[in-house]
Parts: sequence; C-alpha cells; structure tokens
Amino acid sequence: GSYIEENSASPVKLPTIKFTKLFINGEFVDSVSGKTFETIDPRTGEVIARVAEGDKEDVDLAVKAARQAFDDGPWPRMTGAERGRIMMKYAALIDEHIEELAALDTIDAGKLFSGGKAVDIPNVAQLLRYYAGAADKIHGEVLKMSRELHGYTLREPIGVAGHIIPWNFPSSMFFMMSAPALAAGCTMIVKPAEQTPLSALFYGHLAKQAGMPDGVINVITGYGPTAGAALASHMDVDKVCFTGSTEVGRKIMQAAATSNLKQVSLELGGKSPLLIFDDADVDKAADLALLGILYNKGEICVASSRVFVQEGIYDEFVKKLKEKAKDWVVGDPFDPRSRLGPQVDKQQFDKILSYIEHGKREGASLLTGGKPVGKKGYFIEPTVFTDVKEDMMIATDEIFGPVMSLMKFKTIDEAIKKANNTKYGLAAGIVTKNLDVANTVSRSIRAGTIWINCYFAFDNDCSYGGYKMSGFGRHLGMEALHKFLQVKSVVTPIYNSPW
Ligand code: ADP
Repeated sequence: GSYIEENSASPVKLPTIKFTKLFINGEFVDSVSGKTFETIDPRTGEVIARVAEGDKEDVDLAVKAARQAFDDGPWPRMTGAERGRIMMKYAALIDEHIEELAALDTIDAGKLFSGGKAVDIPNVAQLLRYYAGAADKIHGEVLKMSRELHGYTLREPIGVAGHIIPWNFPSSMFFMMSAPALAAGCTMIVKPAEQTPLSALFYGHLAKQAGMPDGVINVITGYGPTAGAALASHMDVDKVCFTGSTEVGRKIMQAAATSNLKQVSLELGGKSPLLIFDDADVDKAADLALLGILYNKGEICVASSRVFVQEGIYDEFVKKLKEKAKDWVVGDPFDPRSRLGPQVDKQQFDKILSYIEHGKREGASLLTGGKPVGKKGYFIEPTVFTDVKEDMMIATDEIFGPVMSLMKFKTIDEAIKKANNTKYGLAAGIVTKNLDVANTVSRSIRAGTIWINCYFAFDNDCSYGGYKMSGFGRHLGMEALHKFLQVKSVVTPIYNSPW
C-alpha cells in the first residue's frame, strides 16, 4: 500500500510512522528504562509519535555493539570495494523511499516537502555513492627515508565514531557525518536531534536491508545532555563528530578531553556575511540575499545573516529586497506554493521572536516582517532589519531563523573589516563582476567557504567547515573522509642486516 494516507481532517498527506525504537546491533529495541519522548509536528504543535528515549545505558549497549563490529566484525576487514558495494545498495534503497523520507523530515522539522523530494534525499543517496567510490581508493604513501630503511604509511579507520546530529537537516547531516565514516571502515553510533528522530531510525532499517553488518550503524534517539553527553564522554568511542551550537560544541570537547581524549570534529554556529558591491546586478543580488537567509527558514549554519551593501546601490537594493520578500510565501511545507515552513520547535520560535523584539528595542528598523504567521504552529515572516549597527545583538548572534541584518559600507577595506568582525567563520558570499575585488575579498575573509556570485553552492566534492569559533574539521569531500582515517607508519630495514 501507499505510505501516504489522506488525513480527513487536513488536505495534507502524512507518512505512517514505522520506526520508533532504538536501533542497536541490527535490532529495534526499547530503551533500557522503557522511557519514551514526544516528537512534535511544528506545523501544528501536535505530537506525531512517541520515540524511545535512549540514555547512558543504551549508549553503552550501542557502543558495545559498534566496538565489537569494529574489533571483530567484517566491516573494517572487507575490501573497500565490498564496503562500497553495500553503500551503493544503501543508496539505491534510499532512492526507493525518497517521498517517504522527505515526508518524515517535513513533519518532524517543518522542511519543504518539495525540497526534500527533489534535493535533500536524492543528494543523500548520491553522497553515499560519492564515498562508496572512494572506499577502494584509500591508501598511504611510500616514504623517502634518509637511511636504508623502507618506510610507508597505512591509512586505517579511526574506530568507533559517535555522530551527534542537529535537527535542521536531519537526513543530509546523518549522511554527511556517517557516509565518510562508513567508507573509511569505521562503525558508529548516531544520535539524531531530539526534535527530529524519525528519518534517522528509518536509515537504521535501510542499512540492515542493504546488508550492512549488525553493529556498524546504531541509532540512539534521545536528548543531548543525557544520550549525547554519554556518547561524548564514552571511554570506548574513538571519535566524536558534532554539528550544532557553539555552546554545546564546547561541552563536547570538554567531555572528550576529560574522558579518553577521543578525536573531535565540530561544525558550529555562523554569522556569515554577504558582501554586495556597487557593480552588482541589484535584482539578482537581492534574490541571492533573500535565498541566503530564508532557505530552510534560516535554519542553516551558513545562512547569510549579515548582508553588507555598498552605498552606491544601497537604496535601490533596499527597495528591491522589500518587494521580493513578498514572494517568500510562508505556509504548510507540504504545499508547493510555500517557500518557508515552520521553525523546528517552540523553543526556536520563541528565541527568534525575542531576537526580533531585541532588534527593535536596540533601534534597528524593520523593513519587512517581524511577526509570527497563523494561529498554530511555529511560522515566522521573512524579516529584514535596516539601520543595524555592528554591535547590536541581531548583528552579532546566530539567530538561526529568517532574520536578516542589512548594513552599508563604502570601501573594500571597510567591507572586509566588517565581514571579519565576528567570532564565527563558516562562510561568506561576494557579489561583484570585478575579478580583482572578488579575489582580494576571498583571500581576506576568514571563513571556510567563499561563494562568489552564488550562495549555498554545495557539492559533494567541496568541503565546508569552520574557521574561528565555527569549529574545525570538514564536512564533504575527501577532507571529511580523512577525518575518519589515521596514519600508521611502518618501517623496516631494506637489507636484512641486524639493526
Ligand atoms: P540547538 O541549540 O540548535 O538545538 P544543539 O547544539 O543543542 O542545537 O543540538 C545539536 C545536537 O547536540 C542534538 O543532537 C542535541 O541533542 C545534542 N546535544 C545537546 N546538548 C548536548 C550535550 N550536552 N552533550 C552532547 N550532545 C548534546
């Protein structure tokens, strides 16, 4: 039958929830405590399902399974090609369930169904294929030793990885973190965000269907300070990867340091600048600026939340922006006309609205938006502030919502200075036709990704990650694969002489 049922009370099609238990060692099981928690539909604020609440004891069981799968199981011992074949099968199964998976992320995170179906879920399958293709190309180097020694390096999987996932891209983040680890030969425990546990459990099920050995991927749903913290401080986890807030990133690193000094990768907050120069096509630049802050309702770590416009085109830009913001329709994320769905939960909704209030109190002017939409659910209007000063909270803090701070600049030097005036360094955008300006600014901004005349131009081969307090380590590309490998040096005398 069809996974989608017509809900008589609503014109919207809802997926059936099939998986609500922890996925440990290839089985769906209740939590040791028997506890469950609610996952909420941000379109309505209503409960979708109750999901098993994993805690320390469950993390212990999952780590034990992953440890055994790594220490004694077939996964790290298979050839890369064999691992790649299973990953390809996994990708094919995801392709067979695109609509169902996209719908799960829509009801759990408020993400646009059309985007999930056309972009997020197909890309997840493609990302698995990208790393599947790399799995049989992992090798070390022969070294040029200075004595009569033969030296070479091996690249070996790091071991058991713990992935702590955020709620804004439940599917993409699951695989940005786990696909390179799989290719490397690691085993893992994935802890999805408590707001969005549903698709992650489905991915556990599909891993088994694909023939992934038991214990390679384990999924523990539950809260951060309990299940997440247990993973970060576990003595048998070799690496913890975290994507989320800078504040929690600090705790993860502390937990790693005080437990077993496990390796850490952090992808944290951002306050990314978009710099628009006088020679830009104002119409296109306004489109780009709105995309940069409104895509995924602003819940994206690389959002262009600070837009700096050169004074010559500033007034025209502001006019365009105001007109074009109207095209960003807020509504049910299943409705193809909607471009912004609800914010993920009440807490984020309240936080964003309080930043908007703070912006008004600090003296910034609302060019457009600023209010919630509708009587139920967590919808917020596309919001643009002008008259923003660099030290206002709306210009310094990551809001993680559809709220843009618009500012003006005169010279290139001033633009660079303002762009770098942040503790973060995830991404930046530049809009200009002048190659000298583009080159100068790209090299002067301290951020992990620079988009010139584009924004969100992600590619599986193109790594991204943080400078400064946006973290370290990279997602995507071969950089991410190398984060799950460690180098072993092997040395032997060339001639069989006694040492
Ligand atoms: P946000 O603040 O945007 O909700 P978080 O950084 O809190 O994002 O959450 C990202 C992920 O980190 C989630 O999976 C969450 O459960 C987890 N998390 C939150 N607090 C902790 C913690 N103290 N230790 C480990 N993981 C945590």
